[in-house]
Amino acid sequence: MSESFSCEVLRSKRKTLALYVKPGKLTVRVPLSASKTEVEDFVHSNRAWIENRLSEESARQRERLVVEHGRRIFYRARELEIVFRQGGKQRIRTDGNRFIIQGHRLTPAKAREQLEDFLIDKASHYIVPRARGLARYLGVEHKISQIKLRKTKSKWGHCTSQGVLQYNWLIMLAPHSIIDYMIAHEVCHLIHMDHSKRFWLLVNSVCPKHEQYIRWLKEHEHRFWF
Ligand SMILES: [Zn+2]
Repeated sequence: MSESFSCEVLRSKRKTLALYVKPGKLTVRVPLSASKTEVEDFVHSNRAWIENRLSEESARQRERLVVEHGRRIFYRARELEIVFRQGGKQRIRTDGNRFIIQGHRLTPAKAREQLEDFLIDKASHYIVPRARGLARYLGVEHKISQIKLRKTKSKWGHCTSQGVLQYNWLIMLAPHSIIDYMIAHEVCHLIHMDHSKRFWLLVNSVCPKHEQYIRWLKEHEHRFWF
């Protein structure tokens, strides 16, 4: 195999063998009764798939956002160059193909913080009123008890049965159509708490292109975490 990786075999009460790939790591989940040869054969027969997934994962790893001068940021579906500008008022703006972070004695750590504040600010001005507006349109605004914005490890949004809507502010790096889909998804959970057919029909009624947006997110979301 071309990529180097570690391999872990996890035995549990399960009936089938399955493979899970993370950057540089393969996990094989197997039944308690599986023999060593059986596991090895399984891995061998899926060699091509494993190799493919490992290189996919490491490519994704390389595309992760690193907030440093000269690096690239994937902002609203465009690849821009991060430019640190020293001095003057703290601000972030785009100019052509540049994503300019300006601040006094700017370091990567400070720039990161500035980018976080920038996205949180954008999220509170965009997501919160739109989620409320859509809920009002659907007649369920009274069900919202709180709208939280927080960076979570892997999720874009969440809705609890107590009416707490939660959004990951990193989504503000995505185009507005994608953000609007995420807003709609969680607001629709105020009506249907599951991912049933009724739920998706409702999502479709307010966001007809949701399937396209879900695919876009799957393909690009790894570029937003920093
Ligand atoms: Zn959901």
